[in-house]
Amino acid sequence: MDLIDDHQSQHERSEPCPGTLYIVGTPIGNLGDLSPRAKSILKNVSLIACEDTRRSGQLLKIIGSKVPLLSYHKHNFKSRQLQLLEILKSNESLALISDAGLPGINDPGQELVYAAKSKNYEVICIPGPCAAITALVISGLPSERFCFEGFLPKKQSLRKKRLEDIAKEKRTTVIYESPHQLIKLLEDLSISCGKERPIQIARELTKRYEESIGKTIEQVLIYFNTNKPKGEFTIVLGGNTNKLENITSESLALNKLNSLIKQGEKPNLAARKVAEETGYKKKWLYSKLNKKLDK
Ligand code: SAM
Repeated sequence: MDLIDDHQSQHERSEPCPGTLYIVGTPIGNLGDLSPRAKSILKNVSLIACEDTRRSGQLLKIIGSKVPLLSYHKHNFKSRQLQLLEILKSNESLALISDAGLPGINDPGQELVYAAKSKNYEVICIPGPCAAITALVISGLPSERFCFEGFLPKKQSLRKKRLEDIAKEKRTTVIYESPHQLIKLLEDLSISCGKERPIQIARELTKRYEESIGKTIEQVLIYFNTNKPKGEFTIVLGGNTNKLENITSESLALNKLNSLIKQGEKPNLAARKVAEETGYKKKWLYSKLNKKLDK
């Protein structure tokens, strides 16, 4: 224990190092999650690049940091990059933070890290909260292997392809979504993955009204159709546990069939398409459809 403490204090004394870029994790809702090391870096670097100077200014005020801020976001990152690399070149230290969580995870960062590493500057991460990992570890879904999708594309063709990939994915998938798009995402997932697919939705992680909502897509859709989504959400979706490589579950095949017909496809043609895609017999799909139509 002594050894660790000694090493730690030596480390803190020598940080920040000149010519180093620090990627600093900041809280996703609970200020108590800002680590002492993150605080120390944010008080002692020469400059902090951040998404929103007003928002990050509040954080710096709380921790008593007087370090200057410079905006770095998706609209100016190309032009800012050179300016930020100049800081490292002049042997100053630089920190990058985002509005919340870990920079580089669906937040600006990756390009700056790439540019700094290409010029052989040291890049160090001061780890902190990340909504994706926080939601994953409390989901109860398999976490030995998982994949991260961030926000799904809005463009219809790209989105459709991504949903198909997610439906086939065997690992647990983590997705980000805004509150006003959540129901649409759940409806899309229901069509592509089937309504029985396990899911856990983490709402307002680390905050006062934090909650987890599960267990299947059908259940969460019922929940959010009566409880309007409010706050921040991270979706953790169970993987496809179907044994056969490209074959999807019965309900998924029927969901696909229904959705094609809803979109205006002739039942006969829709059944053929779904049969080709899922491996189910066209005749079987058609018979299920007719039963539904008879009711
Ligand atoms: N870089 C951040 C991280 O490391 O978590 C993610 C930034 S991304 C632009 C913002 C999305 O993360 C939100 O739309 C939401 O899906 C998710 N998120 C952020 N904070 C959250 C929270 N407290 N609870 C649940 N999800 C959250």
